[in-house]
Amino acid sequence: MERAGVRLMGKKLLIHNDKVANIHTLDVYRAHGGYASVEKALKTMTPDQVTDEVKKSGLRGRGGAGFPTGMKWSFLAKPEGVPRYLVCNADESEPGTFKDRYLMEVIPHALIEGMITSSYALGANTSYIYIRGEYFYVARIVEKALAEAYAAGWLGKNILGTDFSHDCYVQVGGGAYICGEETALLESLEGKRGNPRIKPPFPAVAGLWGCPTVVNNVETIAAVVPIVNDGGEAYAKIGIGKSTGTKLISASGHINKPGVYEIELGIPVEEFIYSEEYCGGIRNRKKMKAVVAGGSSVPILPTELILKTAKGEPRLMTYESLADGGFATGTMLGSGGFIVMDEDTSIVKNLFTFTRFYHHESCGQCSPCREGTGWMEKILKKFLNGTANESDVDLLWDIQSKIEGKTICPLGEAAAWPVAAAIRHFKQEFLDVARSKKFVDVSHYDRLNKINA
Ligand code: SF4
Repeated sequence: MERAGVRLMGKKLLIHNDKVANIHTLDVYRAHGGYASVEKALKTMTPDQVTDEVKKSGLRGRGGAGFPTGMKWSFLAKPEGVPRYLVCNADESEPGTFKDRYLMEVIPHALIEGMITSSYALGANTSYIYIRGEYFYVARIVEKALAEAYAAGWLGKNILGTDFSHDCYVQVGGGAYICGEETALLESLEGKRGNPRIKPPFPAVAGLWGCPTVVNNVETIAAVVPIVNDGGEAYAKIGIGKSTGTKLISASGHINKPGVYEIELGIPVEEFIYSEEYCGGIRNRKKMKAVVAGGSSVPILPTELILKTAKGEPRLMTYESLADGGFATGTMLGSGGFIVMDEDTSIVKNLFTFTRFYHHESCGQCSPCREGTGWMEKILKKFLNGTANESDVDLLWDIQSKIEGKTICPLGEAAAWPVAAAIRHFKQEFLDVARSKKFVDVSHYDRLNKINA
């Protein structure tokens, strides 16, 4: 596939200043061009013009779904006399994903700047940053940055002497993965149990306290800053096709250089894994066995399919290329939680830990999710206890196939897809484990369950 986009040659848009000392403070952030997008938007642009730039940029939601951000904003209902809200989804809980944490921890003002500029476009005078409960210390960093922004007049009444006033609040979540689902997040923000709502109505019509609401991920909101500063067209030139701009990737697993990387969408997966600029290759000179490319809920792919599509083309870090072949031979970019597994990794054990997580985090409203995740965990545990039969592979397949499309929210699918993909690509390993009757001790997970209860 030919590269159509502009190569950034190492230039970054979101974390370009992350190594600057004290960049978390307002003074240093301002000295490096911070809050320019607020000045530009409030003083020289109408709210609709800001939205148009976001549309032109082709920015897609960076939380996992990849929905076009400008289109999402344009769905926002605007009834007279009813407040609108912007809610930042900072409930980053997908296993393998830690890029929003990095952004908030190191450059908190980038998020606050994006919140103000985005809220101006949406006509929202109030916004909330809903931060995952386990990120308590990050919440403190963001709160401190908010206080600095208020003191300097970037938040509050008549910002920069304009008619636009805005208040932004931090809310810390209770530590439930399901609160990353936008309607569960809104329930939690309203002080209720974080149960996902049945849609429609969508939050753009009836969101927080029944009012029109946009829920965007941290990285998505931070990306509005360079889009407004440089223009939507300049942003759209980076990347390939409908995968425009840059993406933060949290890379972990058996690689030499785990960490958070900002990539230009469209680089080959092979370059991301093996180049010194990014992951630096597989640890201890081992061979790669598999990759989970977009957080634990996306289908796992074996080495041959993550590096090349079924058509033999190099797999690229884009929404489209990673999904090429559908779930039969492809996967998803998802949240950008890139987990690399070497040749010694047990796919069965890995799947058990993922499935156990989803069972634990299911809110319990839907039977296919509540019961299905529990039974999948039990069966996978049988494989590890040495008590599974070969027929348990078919049983596992059967259970996962009864979850997709039958639940209120995507958590059920997030639990089913990894199981389906693991069996699809590594069925022989399941059969070998069942035949071996080998005992693998996973009792520490039971102890963890007790601690978490
Ligand atoms: Fe709750 Fe699972 Fe149903 Fe989502 S799919 S609403 S987490 S039971």
